[in-house]
Amino acid sequence: MEHVTRIVIIGGGPGGYEAALVAAQLGAEVTVVDRDGLGGSAVLTDCVPSKTLIATAEVMTTFDSSYEELGILVADGTPDAADPARVVGVDLGKVNRRVKRLAIAQSHDITQAVTRAGVTVLRGRGRLGSSGQAIDGSREVLVDHTDGRVESLRADAVLIATGVRPRELPDAQPDGERILAWTQVYDLEELPRELIVVGSGVTGAEFAGAYQALGSNVTLVSSRDRVLPGEDPDAAEVLEDVFRRRGMNVMSRSRAETVKRVSARTDAAEGPSSPKAGKEGGIGDRVEVTLSDGKVITGTHCLMAVGSIPNTADLGLEEAGVAVNDWGQIKVDRVSRTSAPGVYAAGDCTGVFMLASVAAMQGRIAMYHALGDAVQPLNLKTVASNVFTDPEIATVGYTHADVSCGKMDAVEIKLPLRGNPRAKMQGIRDGFVKLFARPGTGIVVGGVVVAPRASELIHSISIAVDNNLTVEQVANTFTVYPSLSGSTAEAARQLHIRKREGAGS
Ligand SMILES: Cc1cc2nc3c(=O)[nH]c(=O)nc-3n(C[C@H](O)[C@H](O)[C@H](O)COP(=O)(O)OP(=O)(O)OC[C@H]3O[C@@H](n4cnc5c(N)ncnc54)[C@H](O)[C@@H]3O)c2cc1C
Repeated sequence: MEHVTRIVIIGGGPGGYEAALVAAQLGAEVTVVDRDGLGGSAVLTDCVPSKTLIATAEVMTTFDSSYEELGILVADGTPDAADPARVVGVDLGKVNRRVKRLAIAQSHDITQAVTRAGVTVLRGRGRLGSSGQAIDGSREVLVDHTDGRVESLRADAVLIATGVRPRELPDAQPDGERILAWTQVYDLEELPRELIVVGSGVTGAEFAGAYQALGSNVTLVSSRDRVLPGEDPDAAEVLEDVFRRRGMNVMSRSRAETVKRVSARTDAAEGPSSPKAGKEGGIGDRVEVTLSDGKVITGTHCLMAVGSIPNTADLGLEEAGVAVNDWGQIKVDRVSRTSAPGVYAAGDCTGVFMLASVAAMQGRIAMYHALGDAVQPLNLKTVASNVFTDPEIATVGYTHADVSCGKMDAVEIKLPLRGNPRAKMQGIRDGFVKLFARPGTGIVVGGVVVAPRASELIHSISIAVDNNLTVEQVANTFTVYPSLSGSTAEAARQLHIRKREGAGS
């Protein structure tokens, strides 16, 4: 009888469910064990909900920042020059209901697709069994069902894709009402009037920008010199400048030590109010954030965005011989193998590159490897990523940091969007296209786009990086006139000219 490979996947986010689809297509018998619903945090609490919220924020920003210049008349109100966002308002309860509806619908769609592919989906908590590897090489996975039953499954290969959860500071515990983790913001019915966002990484910056656009007065507490410390420094500078111009209070080199709820102030020193912002006036309806230098700031709500913790503690990893690093992330190689034979890991729990696309790729690669299919090891140098602020910041390939530390020998060019005809027509002033290319060959090795919808514009640079195209090839490819992508071709053209001049001198 033909042996059918049994695959058990713990965690049904992009790392898990994409792997399940591939394994089923390759003929394996696949079971996915998931605690919270297929799609994982990506679909239920992180990626999809935040981008749906940001979709509303984006409309608000586009309107606020361009209606005057583009000659739009608002029929039922005169804009307040000090607070133009208030020409239009946001019903946060309605926005959040839409966010949750879309997330649940997407989780449902994924469950249907996975089940249709023949995958068994179990709702419960999975962990590696203590019986280790059996003589036939198989492993045991235990499933703690919600009704208390414990089921034992045998698998020829196990994939762990359990993701991460928000990191909590001991003296800043989220309560879901005023002190919030990013997973809790979608239960708010009214817009926070004064929101303090702690943490200026991608998550903090995205939420700070979004709530500012929706009408909150936002203070962004950043422990570093500038926002987005992991991103291209020029891009981060543009964003911080935009944030400040829009009235956000960006506090650099400020570390939050404690966050607690306090009662409303009765004095007249309340911050500026917004007609759509949340009501308060009762006990514990304000928050107080104490910084490490002793300074205290107050607001109506505080959103904590101080990183994440991998969900790897109760999986029986140590007993199974699966090595983790000091942060609890599972160590994997480029084909997603862990240190234990037959056990693979994918996605955020490995800490390799915390993106849904990378999680999915790691999961698929694990299955190709486990099931003996052709496999290309993970290549992080072609990953495109995006920060969904306004403007967006999209990046691919080698970065400024790689070039400045000598990891990659490349020349770079930065072309501000200000000179782009389409940008002028659309009233876009902030942003640029940056390209990195090898000095001799002119091969494009990386790029950054800071623009509205940079997530769409980066694709041409991704194709160039992925296919070793030269700046000359990019420059000679037609772009639509007028278009923002014209700036990518123009940047390539300028680098090409510079290369020729360099060669001629
Ligand atoms: C606010 C925010 C916005 C983001 N936006 C984007 C974006 O726009 N684009 C992007 O590419 N990435 C984004 N990310 C990152 C993206 O969400 C993650 O990279 C992605 O979710 C990782 O997928 P995963 O499969 O590793 O884990 P997850 O999506 O976290 O899924 C893990 C699943 O495993 C389950 N699980 C955990 N432990 C167990 C257990 N013991 N047994 C059974 N099930 C278990 C969990 O319940 C969950 O369902 C964002 C992250 C955050 C925080």
